[in-house]
Amino acid sequence: MKNNEYDVIIVGGGITGAGTARDCAMRGLRVLLVERYDIATGATGRNHGLLHSGARYAVTDQESANECIRENMILRRIASHCVDETDGFFITLPEDDLNYQTKFFESCLSAGIHAEIMDPKEALRMEPSINPDIIGAVKVPDGSVDPFRLCAANMLDAKLHGAQVLLYSEVTGFIKDGDRIVGIKTFNHQTHKTGEYYANITVNAAGIWGHHIAELAGVNIDMVPAKGALLIFAHRVNGIVINRCRKPSNADILVPGDTVCIIGTTSTKIPFDKCDTVTVTPDEVNLLIEEGAKLAPALASTRILRAFAGVRPLVAADSNDSRNISRGIVCLDHEKREGLKGFISITGGKLTTYRLMAEMATDLVCEKLSVNKPCETANAPLPGSDGKSFREVAQKIWDNPTTGQKAAAGRLGTGVTNIPAASSLDQSLICECEQVSVGEINSAIERWDVNGLRDLRRRTRVGMGPCQGELCSCRAAGLLAKAHGCTDRARADLQRFMTERWKGMYPIGWGDALREAEYTQWIYKHVLGV
Ligand SMILES: Cc1cc2nc3c(=O)[nH]c(=O)nc-3n(C[C@H](O)[C@H](O)[C@H](O)COP(=O)(O)OP(=O)(O)OC[C@H]3O[C@@H](n4cnc5c(N)ncnc54)[C@H](O)[C@@H]3O)c2cc1C
Repeated sequence: MKNNEYDVIIVGGGITGAGTARDCAMRGLRVLLVERYDIATGATGRNHGLLHSGARYAVTDQESANECIRENMILRRIASHCVDETDGFFITLPEDDLNYQTKFFESCLSAGIHAEIMDPKEALRMEPSINPDIIGAVKVPDGSVDPFRLCAANMLDAKLHGAQVLLYSEVTGFIKDGDRIVGIKTFNHQTHKTGEYYANITVNAAGIWGHHIAELAGVNIDMVPAKGALLIFAHRVNGIVINRCRKPSNADILVPGDTVCIIGTTSTKIPFDKCDTVTVTPDEVNLLIEEGAKLAPALASTRILRAFAGVRPLVAADSNDSRNISRGIVCLDHEKREGLKGFISITGGKLTTYRLMAEMATDLVCEKLSVNKPCETANAPLPGSDGKSFREVAQKIWDNPTTGQKAAAGRLGTGVTNIPAASSLDQSLICECEQVSVGEINSAIERWDVNGLRDLRRRTRVGMGPCQGELCSCRAAGLLAKAHGCTDRARADLQRFMTERWKGMYPIGWGDALREAEYTQWIYKHVLGV
Protein backbone atom coordinates (compact mmCIF):
# COMPACT_ATOMS: atom_id res chain seq x y z
CA MET A 1 0.00 0.00 0.00
CA LYS A 2 1.18 3.50 -0.81
CA ASN A 3 0.21 6.43 1.36
CA ASN A 4 -2.31 7.62 -1.23
CA GLU A 5 -4.25 4.32 -1.38
CA TYR A 6 -7.43 3.67 0.58
CA ASP A 7 -10.35 1.25 0.72
CA VAL A 8 -12.82 4.05 0.26
CA ILE A 9 -12.74 7.72 -0.73
CA ILE A 10 -15.67 9.93 0.28
CA VAL A 11 -16.31 13.12 -1.66
CA GLY A 12 -17.99 15.87 0.40
CA GLY A 13 -17.49 17.09 3.96
CA GLY A 14 -21.12 17.81 4.77
CA ILE A 15 -23.05 15.73 7.30
CA THR A 16 -23.57 12.82 4.85
CA GLY A 17 -19.86 12.58 4.02
CA ALA A 18 -18.80 13.01 7.65
CA GLY A 19 -21.30 10.36 8.81
CA THR A 20 -20.23 7.95 6.06
CA ALA A 21 -16.53 8.49 6.89
CA ARG A 22 -17.28 7.71 10.53
CA ASP A 23 -19.27 4.57 9.73
CA CYS A 24 -16.68 3.27 7.23
CA ALA A 25 -13.81 3.94 9.64
CA MET A 26 -15.67 2.24 12.50
CA ARG A 27 -16.02 -0.84 10.32
CA GLY A 28 -12.25 -0.97 9.91
CA LEU A 29 -11.91 0.49 6.41
CA ARG A 30 -9.08 2.80 5.38
CA VAL A 31 -10.91 6.02 4.66
CA LEU A 32 -10.08 9.31 2.96
CA LEU A 33 -12.64 12.13 3.05
CA VAL A 34 -12.14 15.00 0.58
CA GLU A 35 -13.90 18.35 0.95
CA ARG A 36 -13.36 21.30 -1.37
CA TYR A 37 -13.70 23.95 1.38
CA ASP A 38 -14.34 23.52 5.10
CA ILE A 39 -16.71 21.05 6.78
CA ALA A 40 -20.40 22.02 6.65
CA THR A 41 -20.01 24.66 3.95
CA GLY A 42 -22.83 23.18 1.84
CA ALA A 43 -26.45 22.59 2.88
CA THR A 44 -25.23 21.20 6.22
CA GLY A 45 -24.23 24.67 7.38
CA ARG A 46 -27.18 26.39 5.72
CA ASN A 47 -30.33 24.87 7.11
CA HIS A 48 -32.97 25.28 9.77
CA GLY A 49 -31.43 22.95 12.34
CA LEU A 50 -34.77 21.24 12.92
CA LEU A 51 -34.46 17.76 14.35
CA HIS A 52 -37.51 16.50 12.50
CA SER A 53 -39.93 14.30 14.37
CA GLY A 54 -41.16 13.38 10.90
CA ALA A 55 -44.51 15.10 11.53
CA ARG A 56 -43.90 17.54 8.67
CA TYR A 57 -43.86 14.65 6.22
CA ALA A 58 -46.46 12.45 7.91
CA VAL A 59 -49.33 13.35 5.54
CA THR A 60 -47.33 13.33 2.30
CA ASP A 61 -44.52 10.80 2.80
CA GLN A 62 -44.93 8.15 5.51
CA GLU A 63 -41.59 6.51 4.74
CA SER A 64 -39.62 9.74 5.29
CA ALA A 65 -41.69 10.49 8.39
CA ASN A 66 -40.87 7.11 9.89
CA GLU A 67 -37.17 7.44 9.03
CA CYS A 68 -37.14 10.83 10.77
CA ILE A 69 -38.71 9.67 14.03
CA ARG A 70 -36.39 6.68 14.27
CA GLU A 71 -33.28 8.78 13.61
CA ASN A 72 -34.57 11.58 15.87
CA MET A 73 -34.60 9.13 18.79
CA ILE A 74 -31.14 7.80 17.90
CA LEU A 75 -29.60 11.29 17.71
CA ARG A 76 -30.99 12.20 21.12
CA ARG A 77 -28.90 9.28 22.44
CA ILE A 78 -25.69 9.44 20.44
CA ALA A 79 -25.45 13.21 19.93
CA SER A 80 -27.07 14.62 23.06
CA HIS A 81 -24.67 17.60 23.13
CA CYS A 82 -25.83 18.63 19.64
CA VAL A 83 -29.55 18.21 20.31
CA ASP A 84 -31.96 20.46 22.16
CA GLU A 85 -35.02 18.40 23.10
CA THR A 86 -37.47 21.26 22.69
CA ASP A 87 -40.52 19.39 21.35
CA GLY A 88 -42.65 21.04 18.69
CA PHE A 89 -46.15 22.37 18.12
CA PHE A 90 -48.10 22.19 14.85
CA ILE A 91 -50.55 25.07 15.19
CA THR A 92 -53.71 25.81 13.23
CA LEU A 93 -54.58 29.45 12.56
CA PRO A 94 -58.12 30.74 11.92
CA GLU A 95 -57.35 30.97 8.18
CA ASP A 96 -56.27 27.26 8.09
CA ASP A 97 -58.51 24.20 7.75
CA LEU A 98 -58.95 22.52 11.15
CA ASN A 99 -59.90 19.26 9.37
CA TYR A 100 -56.28 19.04 8.24
CA GLN A 101 -55.28 18.71 11.91
CA THR A 102 -57.26 15.44 12.20
CA LYS A 103 -55.63 14.00 9.08
CA PHE A 104 -52.22 15.22 10.30
CA PHE A 105 -52.68 13.68 13.74
CA GLU A 106 -53.72 10.30 12.34
CA SER A 107 -50.83 10.31 9.85
CA CYS A 108 -48.36 11.02 12.65
CA LEU A 109 -49.64 8.07 14.66
CA SER A 110 -49.47 5.72 11.68
CA ALA A 111 -45.85 6.81 11.00
CA GLY A 112 -44.94 5.97 14.61
CA ILE A 113 -44.72 9.60 15.80
CA HIS A 114 -46.00 10.31 19.28
CA ALA A 115 -48.46 13.15 18.67
CA GLU A 116 -50.84 14.75 21.15
CA ILE A 117 -53.75 17.07 20.36
CA MET A 118 -53.58 19.97 22.82
CA ASP A 119 -56.07 22.50 24.06
CA PRO A 120 -54.89 25.73 22.35
CA LYS A 121 -54.90 27.49 25.74
CA GLU A 122 -52.55 24.88 27.19
CA ALA A 123 -50.28 25.16 24.12
CA LEU A 124 -50.14 28.93 24.67
CA ARG A 125 -49.32 28.43 28.30
CA MET A 126 -46.43 26.14 27.35
CA GLU A 127 -45.19 28.39 24.53
CA PRO A 128 -46.36 31.99 25.10
CA SER A 129 -44.83 33.27 21.86
CA ILE A 130 -47.41 31.39 19.75
CA ASN A 131 -50.04 33.47 17.93
CA PRO A 132 -52.86 33.78 20.53
CA ASP A 133 -55.49 33.37 17.77
CA ILE A 134 -54.70 29.67 17.21
CA ILE A 135 -57.64 27.31 16.92
CA GLY A 136 -55.68 24.05 17.17
CA ALA A 137 -52.34 22.64 18.35
CA VAL A 138 -50.64 19.25 18.17
CA LYS A 139 -47.52 18.46 20.18
CA VAL A 140 -44.81 16.28 18.56
CA PRO A 141 -41.24 15.28 19.49
CA ASP A 142 -39.47 17.82 17.23
CA GLY A 143 -36.19 19.26 18.47
CA SER A 144 -33.34 21.41 17.33
CA VAL A 145 -29.91 20.18 16.31
CA ASP A 146 -26.70 22.14 15.79
CA PRO A 147 -25.48 21.08 12.33
CA PHE A 148 -21.95 22.45 12.75
CA ARG A 149 -21.44 20.62 16.02
CA LEU A 150 -22.94 17.40 14.66
CA CYS A 151 -20.77 17.49 11.53
CA ALA A 152 -17.60 18.30 13.49
CA ALA A 153 -18.28 15.49 16.00
CA ASN A 154 -18.74 12.96 13.18
CA MET A 155 -15.58 14.17 11.48
CA LEU A 156 -13.59 13.99 14.72
CA ASP A 157 -14.83 10.47 15.44
CA ALA A 158 -13.98 9.35 11.89
CA LYS A 159 -10.46 10.63 12.48
CA LEU A 160 -10.25 8.96 15.89
CA HIS A 161 -11.08 5.71 14.06
CA GLY A 162 -8.25 6.26 11.58
CA ALA A 163 -9.89 8.21 8.72
CA GLN A 164 -7.90 10.92 6.95
CA VAL A 165 -9.58 14.20 6.11
CA LEU A 166 -8.44 16.54 3.36
CA LEU A 167 -10.05 19.96 3.62
CA TYR A 168 -9.86 22.68 0.93
CA SER A 169 -9.24 19.93 -1.66
CA GLU A 170 -11.62 19.88 -4.59
CA VAL A 171 -12.24 16.74 -6.61
CA THR A 172 -11.61 17.81 -10.21
CA GLY A 173 -11.74 14.44 -11.97
CA PHE A 174 -11.65 10.67 -11.68
CA ILE A 175 -9.02 8.08 -12.51
CA LYS A 176 -10.55 5.17 -14.39
CA ASP A 177 -9.38 1.68 -15.25
CA GLY A 178 -11.78 0.52 -17.98
CA ASP A 179 -15.26 0.47 -16.50
CA ARG A 180 -14.04 1.06 -12.95
CA ILE A 181 -13.36 4.23 -10.95
CA VAL A 182 -10.04 3.63 -9.19
CA GLY A 183 -9.21 7.07 -7.86
CA ILE A 184 -9.71 10.83 -7.79
CA LYS A 185 -7.79 13.89 -8.94
CA THR A 186 -7.77 16.89 -6.61
CA PHE A 187 -6.83 20.55 -6.49
CA ASN A 188 -5.91 22.08 -3.15
CA HIS A 189 -7.27 25.63 -2.83
CA GLN A 190 -4.68 26.59 -0.22
CA THR A 191 -1.46 25.12 -1.56
CA HIS A 192 -2.60 25.27 -5.21
CA LYS A 193 -1.20 21.76 -5.66
CA THR A 194 -2.86 18.91 -7.50
CA GLY A 195 -3.05 15.37 -6.11
CA GLU A 196 -4.11 11.81 -6.96
CA TYR A 197 -5.63 9.35 -4.51
CA TYR A 198 -6.69 5.75 -5.12
CA ALA A 199 -9.40 3.55 -3.63
CA ASN A 200 -11.50 0.49 -4.47
CA ILE A 201 -14.68 2.46 -3.94
CA THR A 202 -15.49 6.17 -4.19
CA VAL A 203 -18.62 7.50 -2.48
CA ASN A 204 -20.19 10.63 -3.92
CA ALA A 205 -21.63 12.50 -0.89
CA ALA A 206 -21.40 15.96 -2.40
CA GLY A 207 -24.98 17.10 -1.79
CA ILE A 208 -26.39 19.11 -4.68
CA TRP A 209 -22.90 19.17 -6.21
CA GLY A 210 -23.21 15.38 -6.41
CA HIS A 211 -24.85 16.04 -9.79
CA HIS A 212 -21.56 17.52 -11.03
CA ILE A 213 -19.41 14.83 -9.35
CA ALA A 214 -21.50 12.17 -11.13
CA GLU A 215 -20.96 13.97 -14.44
CA LEU A 216 -17.21 13.97 -13.82
CA ALA A 217 -17.43 10.21 -13.31
CA GLY A 218 -19.42 9.88 -16.57
CA VAL A 219 -22.88 9.12 -15.15
CA ASN A 220 -26.00 11.17 -14.53
CA ILE A 221 -28.07 11.84 -11.42
CA ASP A 222 -31.17 13.86 -12.17
CA MET A 223 -31.14 16.36 -9.31
CA VAL A 224 -33.21 19.46 -8.60
CA PRO A 225 -31.48 22.33 -6.81
CA ALA A 226 -34.12 23.80 -4.47
CA LYS A 227 -33.03 27.00 -2.75
CA GLY A 228 -34.41 27.80 0.69
CA ALA A 229 -34.06 31.22 2.38
CA LEU A 230 -34.09 31.75 6.15
CA LEU A 231 -33.83 34.57 8.71
CA ILE A 232 -32.03 34.44 12.05
CA PHE A 233 -33.52 36.51 14.87
CA ALA A 234 -31.32 38.01 17.56
CA HIS A 235 -32.77 36.05 20.42
CA ARG A 236 -34.71 32.94 21.22
CA VAL A 237 -38.30 34.10 20.85
CA ASN A 238 -39.64 30.56 21.31
CA GLY A 239 -38.45 27.66 23.42
CA ILE A 240 -40.53 25.05 21.55
CA VAL A 241 -40.42 24.58 17.77
CA ILE A 242 -43.50 26.15 16.12
CA ASN A 243 -44.77 24.68 12.85
CA ARG A 244 -47.89 25.52 10.88
CA CYS A 245 -50.35 22.63 10.62
CA ARG A 246 -51.03 22.65 6.90
CA LYS A 247 -49.54 21.25 3.71
CA PRO A 248 -45.80 22.23 3.81
CA SER A 249 -45.42 25.79 2.56
CA ASN A 250 -43.27 28.92 2.90
CA ALA A 251 -42.06 30.21 6.28
CA ASP A 252 -44.01 27.73 8.34
CA ILE A 253 -41.31 26.61 10.81
CA LEU A 254 -39.74 28.61 13.65
CA VAL A 255 -36.84 26.76 15.28
CA PRO A 256 -35.10 27.88 18.48
CA GLY A 257 -31.38 27.13 18.48
CA ASP A 258 -28.71 28.19 20.95
CA THR A 259 -29.27 31.90 21.64
CA VAL A 260 -31.32 32.62 18.48
CA CYS A 261 -34.32 31.40 16.52
CA ILE A 262 -34.64 30.78 12.78
CA ILE A 263 -37.69 31.23 10.56
CA GLY A 264 -37.89 29.48 7.22
CA THR A 265 -38.00 28.48 4.67
CA THR A 266 -38.85 29.16 1.06
CA SER A 267 -38.41 26.63 -1.75
CA THR A 268 -37.43 27.78 -5.23
CA LYS A 269 -35.89 25.83 -8.07
CA ILE A 270 -32.62 27.40 -9.24
CA PRO A 271 -30.13 26.55 -12.00
CA PHE A 272 -27.07 24.45 -11.06
CA ASP A 273 -24.66 27.29 -11.85
CA LYS A 274 -26.29 29.43 -9.11
CA CYS A 275 -25.80 26.88 -6.30
CA ASP A 276 -22.53 28.49 -5.16
CA THR A 277 -23.81 32.05 -5.11
CA VAL A 278 -27.31 31.97 -3.62
CA THR A 279 -28.50 35.23 -2.10
CA VAL A 280 -31.67 36.22 -0.27
CA THR A 281 -33.97 38.64 -2.10
CA PRO A 282 -36.08 41.46 -0.55
CA ASP A 283 -39.25 39.56 -1.51
CA GLU A 284 -38.05 36.51 0.39
CA VAL A 285 -37.20 38.64 3.44
CA ASN A 286 -40.67 40.24 3.38
CA LEU A 287 -42.41 36.91 2.98
CA LEU A 288 -40.45 35.31 5.83
CA ILE A 289 -41.25 38.17 8.22
CA GLU A 290 -44.91 38.34 7.20
CA GLU A 291 -45.58 34.60 7.43
CA GLY A 292 -43.29 34.20 10.45
CA ALA A 293 -45.23 36.79 12.44
CA LYS A 294 -48.36 34.68 11.90
CA LEU A 295 -46.68 31.89 13.87
CA ALA A 296 -45.19 34.15 16.55
CA PRO A 297 -46.35 37.80 16.43
CA ALA A 298 -43.22 38.95 18.35
CA LEU A 299 -41.15 38.28 15.22
CA ALA A 300 -42.59 41.43 13.62
CA SER A 301 -40.72 43.57 16.15
CA THR A 302 -37.70 41.39 16.96
CA ARG A 303 -34.31 42.38 15.63
CA ILE A 304 -33.13 40.23 12.73
CA LEU A 305 -29.48 39.20 12.79
CA ARG A 306 -28.94 37.96 9.28
CA ALA A 307 -30.42 36.23 6.25
CA PHE A 308 -29.02 33.17 4.55
CA ALA A 309 -29.94 30.54 2.00
CA GLY A 310 -29.01 26.96 1.23
CA VAL A 311 -29.67 24.50 -1.58
CA ARG A 312 -31.41 21.18 -0.89
CA PRO A 313 -29.97 18.12 -2.62
CA LEU A 314 -33.24 16.79 -4.01
CA VAL A 315 -33.42 14.03 -6.58
CA ALA A 316 -35.84 14.69 -9.43
CA ALA A 317 -39.26 13.15 -9.85
CA ASP A 318 -41.95 14.10 -12.34
CA SER A 319 -42.97 17.32 -10.67
CA ASN A 320 -42.48 20.99 -11.21
CA ASP A 321 -43.02 21.85 -7.58
CA SER A 322 -39.84 21.42 -5.54
CA ARG A 323 -41.91 20.82 -2.39
CA ASN A 324 -43.52 17.76 -3.97
CA ILE A 325 -40.24 16.06 -4.73
CA SER A 326 -39.47 13.30 -2.25
CA ARG A 327 -37.03 14.29 0.47
CA GLY A 328 -36.28 10.57 0.90
CA ILE A 329 -32.85 8.96 0.83
CA VAL A 330 -31.33 7.99 -2.53
CA CYS A 331 -28.44 5.48 -2.51
CA LEU A 332 -27.24 4.68 -6.02
CA ASP A 333 -25.05 1.74 -6.99
CA HIS A 334 -23.64 2.98 -10.30
CA GLU A 335 -22.34 -0.50 -11.12
CA LYS A 336 -25.91 -1.84 -11.18
CA ARG A 337 -27.30 1.34 -12.72
CA GLU A 338 -24.83 2.22 -15.48
CA GLY A 339 -22.18 -0.51 -15.28
CA LEU A 340 -19.66 1.88 -13.66
CA LYS A 341 -17.79 -0.09 -11.00
CA GLY A 342 -16.32 1.36 -7.79
CA PHE A 343 -18.71 4.33 -7.61
CA ILE A 344 -21.65 4.96 -5.26
CA SER A 345 -23.80 8.07 -4.72
CA ILE A 346 -25.64 8.87 -1.50
CA THR A 347 -27.94 11.89 -1.56
CA GLY A 348 -31.41 13.29 -0.83
CA GLY A 349 -32.52 12.80 2.76
CA LYS A 350 -32.15 15.32 5.53
CA LEU A 351 -29.80 16.38 8.27
CA THR A 352 -31.99 14.37 10.66
CA THR A 353 -31.52 11.18 8.63
CA TYR A 354 -27.79 11.54 7.84
CA ARG A 355 -26.81 8.57 10.03
CA LEU A 356 -29.17 6.24 8.23
CA MET A 357 -27.88 7.54 4.88
CA ALA A 358 -24.33 6.86 6.01
CA GLU A 359 -25.30 3.38 7.14
CA MET A 360 -26.90 2.59 3.76
CA ALA A 361 -23.85 3.83 1.84
CA THR A 362 -21.42 2.00 4.14
CA ASP A 363 -23.43 -1.24 3.91
CA LEU A 364 -23.07 -1.04 0.12
CA VAL A 365 -19.34 -0.28 0.35
CA CYS A 366 -18.86 -3.25 2.70
CA GLU A 367 -20.86 -5.55 0.44
CA LYS A 368 -18.62 -4.63 -2.50
CA LEU A 369 -15.43 -5.08 -0.44
CA SER A 370 -16.73 -8.31 1.15
CA VAL A 371 -16.37 -6.81 4.61
CA ASN A 372 -18.70 -8.38 7.09
CA LYS A 373 -18.90 -5.92 9.98
CA PRO A 374 -22.22 -4.59 11.27
CA CYS A 375 -23.01 -0.88 11.65
CA GLU A 376 -22.56 0.40 15.19
CA THR A 377 -23.26 4.10 14.74
CA ALA A 378 -26.80 3.91 16.14
CA ASN A 379 -25.42 2.94 19.54
CA ALA A 380 -21.94 4.47 19.74
CA PRO A 381 -22.09 8.01 21.16
CA LEU A 382 -20.25 10.76 19.34
CA PRO A 383 -17.34 12.58 20.96
CA GLY A 384 -18.93 15.12 23.26
CA SER A 385 -21.83 12.84 24.18
CA ASP A 386 -19.56 10.01 25.29
CA GLY A 387 -17.91 9.04 28.56
CA LYS A 388 -19.97 8.83 31.69
CA SER A 389 -22.62 11.29 30.68
CA PHE A 390 -22.57 14.61 28.90
CA ARG A 391 -25.09 15.98 31.34
CA GLU A 392 -23.03 14.89 34.34
CA VAL A 393 -19.93 16.67 33.00
CA ALA A 394 -21.93 19.72 32.01
CA GLN A 395 -23.61 19.83 35.42
CA LYS A 396 -20.23 19.86 37.20
CA ILE A 397 -19.13 22.78 35.07
CA TRP A 398 -22.41 24.57 35.56
CA ASP A 399 -22.08 24.15 39.32
CA ASN A 400 -18.53 25.50 39.33
CA PRO A 401 -17.95 27.44 36.12
CA THR A 402 -14.95 29.42 34.97
CA THR A 403 -15.66 32.18 32.46
CA GLY A 404 -16.73 30.83 29.11
CA GLN A 405 -16.85 27.22 30.25
CA LYS A 406 -20.59 27.19 30.82
CA ALA A 407 -21.32 28.08 27.22
CA ALA A 408 -18.55 25.79 25.99
CA ALA A 409 -20.07 22.87 27.89
CA GLY A 410 -23.27 23.41 25.93
CA ARG A 411 -21.31 23.47 22.68
CA LEU A 412 -18.83 20.67 23.27
CA GLY A 413 -20.43 18.38 25.81
CA THR A 414 -17.80 16.21 27.46
CA GLY A 415 -15.24 17.73 25.05
CA VAL A 416 -15.23 20.80 27.29
CA THR A 417 -12.66 19.02 29.48
CA ASN A 418 -10.13 19.51 26.63
CA ILE A 419 -10.40 23.29 26.89
CA PRO A 420 -7.57 24.91 28.83
CA ALA A 421 -9.05 27.03 31.60
CA ALA A 422 -6.23 27.20 34.14
CA SER A 423 -4.96 30.73 33.53
CA SER A 424 -6.85 33.99 33.51
CA LEU A 425 -5.76 34.43 29.87
CA ASP A 426 -7.35 31.06 28.92
CA GLN A 427 -10.54 32.19 30.64
CA SER A 428 -10.76 35.66 29.14
CA LEU A 429 -13.46 36.11 26.55
CA ILE A 430 -12.88 36.57 22.83
CA CYS A 431 -16.58 36.66 21.91
CA GLU A 432 -18.88 38.12 24.57
CA CYS A 433 -22.10 37.40 22.68
CA GLU A 434 -21.43 33.66 22.49
CA GLN A 435 -19.13 33.45 25.54
CA VAL A 436 -16.16 31.97 23.65
CA SER A 437 -12.92 32.03 25.65
CA VAL A 438 -9.28 32.25 24.55
CA GLY A 439 -8.86 28.65 25.76
CA GLU A 440 -11.70 27.43 23.54
CA ILE A 441 -10.36 29.23 20.48
CA ASN A 442 -6.83 27.90 21.00
CA SER A 443 -8.16 24.40 21.56
CA ALA A 444 -10.24 24.59 18.34
CA ILE A 445 -7.20 25.79 16.37
CA GLU A 446 -5.18 22.84 17.69
CA ARG A 447 -7.76 20.05 17.47
CA TRP A 448 -10.31 20.88 14.81
CA ASP A 449 -8.50 21.64 11.50
CA VAL A 450 -9.06 25.39 11.66
CA ASN A 451 -7.60 27.33 8.73
CA GLY A 452 -9.20 30.71 9.29
CA LEU A 453 -11.90 32.72 11.02
CA ARG A 454 -14.75 31.22 9.06
CA ASP A 455 -13.66 27.70 10.07
CA LEU A 456 -13.35 28.94 13.64
CA ARG A 457 -16.90 30.28 13.54
CA ARG A 458 -18.23 26.87 12.48
CA ARG A 459 -16.40 25.16 15.38
CA THR A 460 -17.04 27.68 18.19
CA ARG A 461 -19.84 30.13 17.18
CA VAL A 462 -17.39 33.03 17.40
CA GLY A 463 -18.93 35.97 15.50
CA MET A 464 -22.41 34.42 15.35
CA GLY A 465 -24.00 36.55 18.09
CA PRO A 466 -25.91 39.85 17.96
CA CYS A 467 -22.84 41.97 17.13
CA GLN A 468 -21.89 39.67 14.22
CA GLY A 469 -18.16 39.80 14.85
CA GLU A 470 -17.77 43.44 15.86
CA LEU A 471 -14.93 42.91 18.36
CA CYS A 472 -14.38 39.17 18.53
CA SER A 473 -13.26 38.83 14.89
CA CYS A 474 -10.27 41.07 15.45
CA ARG A 475 -9.31 39.34 18.68
CA ALA A 476 -9.72 35.87 17.17
CA ALA A 477 -7.68 36.94 14.13
CA GLY A 478 -4.92 37.88 16.57
CA LEU A 479 -4.92 34.37 18.04
CA LEU A 480 -4.90 32.84 14.55
CA ALA A 481 -2.00 35.10 13.54
CA LYS A 482 -0.09 33.82 16.56
CA ALA A 483 -0.92 30.18 15.86
CA HIS A 484 -0.11 30.38 12.14
CA GLY A 485 2.79 32.78 12.59
CA CYS A 486 1.53 35.11 9.88
CA THR A 487 -0.05 38.53 10.37
CA ASP A 488 -0.67 39.20 6.66
CA ARG A 489 -2.67 35.99 6.32
CA ALA A 490 -4.70 36.92 9.41
CA ARG A 491 -5.41 40.41 8.06
CA ALA A 492 -6.70 39.04 4.71
CA ASP A 493 -8.69 36.43 6.59
CA LEU A 494 -10.26 39.13 8.79
CA GLN A 495 -11.35 41.09 5.74
CA ARG A 496 -12.94 38.00 4.18
CA PHE A 497 -14.69 37.21 7.44
CA MET A 498 -16.16 40.70 7.85
CA THR A 499 -17.26 40.68 4.20
CA GLU A 500 -19.05 37.39 4.78
CA ARG A 501 -20.74 38.74 7.93
CA TRP A 502 -21.92 41.76 5.93
CA LYS A 503 -23.30 39.52 3.18
CA GLY A 504 -25.83 38.10 5.64
CA MET A 505 -26.66 41.50 7.16
CA TYR A 506 -27.16 43.33 3.86
CA PRO A 507 -30.61 41.85 3.05
CA ILE A 508 -31.89 42.88 6.50
CA GLY A 509 -29.89 46.11 6.75
CA TRP A 510 -32.21 48.46 8.60
CA GLY A 511 -32.85 49.61 12.19
CA ASP A 512 -30.58 48.17 14.87
CA ALA A 513 -28.84 45.77 12.48
CA LEU A 514 -27.80 48.66 10.24
CA ARG A 515 -26.76 50.79 13.21
CA GLU A 516 -24.60 47.94 14.47
CA ALA A 517 -23.08 47.45 11.01
CA GLU A 518 -22.23 51.17 10.82
CA TYR A 519 -20.62 50.99 14.23
CA THR A 520 -18.61 47.91 13.21
CA GLN A 521 -17.43 49.68 10.08
CA TRP A 522 -16.38 52.68 12.14
CA ILE A 523 -14.36 50.46 14.51
CA TYR A 524 -12.61 48.53 11.74
CA LYS A 525 -11.99 51.39 9.36
CA HIS A 526 -11.33 54.31 11.64
CA VAL A 527 -10.07 52.78 14.90
CA LEU A 528 -8.27 49.64 13.75
CA GLY A 529 -7.37 50.85 10.26
CA VAL A 530 -8.39 47.57 8.60
C1 LIG B 1 -32.84 25.78 3.43
C2 LIG B 1 -32.68 24.39 3.96
C3 LIG B 1 -33.27 24.03 5.17
C4 LIG B 1 -33.13 22.74 5.65
N1 LIG B 1 -33.63 22.45 6.88
C5 LIG B 1 -33.43 21.22 7.40
C6 LIG B 1 -33.86 20.94 8.71
O1 LIG B 1 -34.35 21.80 9.43
N2 LIG B 1 -33.69 19.68 9.19
C7 LIG B 1 -33.13 18.69 8.44
O2 LIG B 1 -33.05 17.56 8.93
N3 LIG B 1 -32.68 18.94 7.19
C8 LIG B 1 -32.79 20.18 6.66
N4 LIG B 1 -32.32 20.47 5.41
C9 LIG B 1 -31.67 19.42 4.64
C10 LIG B 1 -30.21 19.21 5.05
O3 LIG B 1 -29.58 20.45 5.25
C11 LIG B 1 -29.48 18.46 3.95
O4 LIG B 1 -30.21 17.33 3.59
C12 LIG B 1 -28.10 17.99 4.41
O5 LIG B 1 -27.39 19.01 5.05
C13 LIG B 1 -27.31 17.52 3.21
O6 LIG B 1 -26.02 17.18 3.63
P1 LIG B 1 -24.97 16.63 2.58
O7 LIG B 1 -23.73 16.31 3.34
O8 LIG B 1 -25.58 15.52 1.80
O9 LIG B 1 -24.73 17.83 1.56
P2 LIG B 1 -23.86 19.20 1.80
O10 LIG B 1 -23.95 19.65 3.20
O11 LIG B 1 -24.28 20.15 0.74
O12 LIG B 1 -22.40 18.72 1.58
C14 LIG B 1 -21.83 18.49 0.31
C15 LIG B 1 -20.37 18.89 0.41
O13 LIG B 1 -19.71 18.50 -0.80
C16 LIG B 1 -18.71 19.45 -1.05
N5 LIG B 1 -18.29 19.39 -2.45
C17 LIG B 1 -18.98 19.81 -3.53
N6 LIG B 1 -18.26 19.62 -4.64
C18 LIG B 1 -17.08 19.07 -4.25
C19 LIG B 1 -15.90 18.67 -4.94
N7 LIG B 1 -15.80 18.79 -6.27
N8 LIG B 1 -14.87 18.16 -4.24
C20 LIG B 1 -14.94 18.04 -2.88
N9 LIG B 1 -16.04 18.41 -2.18
C21 LIG B 1 -17.10 18.91 -2.86
C22 LIG B 1 -19.39 20.78 -0.71
O14 LIG B 1 -18.46 21.81 -0.48
C23 LIG B 1 -20.19 20.40 0.53
O15 LIG B 1 -19.50 20.69 1.73
C24 LIG B 1 -32.42 21.76 4.90
C25 LIG B 1 -31.83 22.13 3.71
C26 LIG B 1 -31.93 23.43 3.25
C27 LIG B 1 -31.21 23.82 2.00
